[in-house]
Amino acid sequence: MNSDIFICYLFQKYGYTHLSAGELLRDERKNPDSQYGELIEKYIKEGKIVPVEITISLLKREMDQTMAANAQKNKFLIDGFPRNQDNLQGWNKTMDGKADVSFVLFFDCNNEICIERCLERGKSSGRSDDNRESLEKRIQTYLQSTKPIIDLYEEMGKVKKIDASKSVDECLLSLKRYLEMMVTER
Ligand code: AMP
Repeated sequence: MNSDIFICYLFQKYGYTHLSAGELLRDERKNPDSQYGELIEKYIKEGKIVPVEITISLLKREMDQTMAANAQKNKFLIDGFPRNQDNLQGWNKTMDGKADVSFVLFFDCNNEICIERCLERGKSSGRSDDNRESLEKRIQTYLQSTKPIIDLYEEMGKVKKIDASKSVDECLLSLKRYLEMMVTER
């Protein structure tokens, strides 16, 4: 089974709906009626974090629609969020009393391996940020803005770390173990 399909299968098996902040932003950028298309493209190409008002409204809309269709689907794995202090404040303001963060999955991987993997992905992804220049900017954004947020959750004891420099199969196994653990702990 292809690893993306297996990840979707794992999330479904443990009752999570997977939402990717980056994917929602890319979809919004494609929408010809969106007033934010150009702004999103500029931020993505520069490897910068899109203003939280845009990202949180896309996430909240998806969460609300999912739960409106099936009230039991109230567990979400939000991929690539929160990525900076602005994201975190926006989340706390919008979701206060509405959602609990049970854990943060941290796929820890050395910068050069990440760049090499994304350059490989860039051969077929068509993504405007899968090139060395954007990727190096993304690493800077990660170090300056995202890592401190992971450290904050680490202090709260909420971080589940996966060594993502290992093979896809080993990462998937660790992911499966964490999801199993979270389901049995609840
Ligand atoms: P990803 O799909 O996670 O690789 O993210 C691709 C790009 O989308 C990032 O480099 C940002 O420009 C933008 N992006 C993704 N997630 C967020 C977020 N939580 N807040 C703002 N911008 C984001």
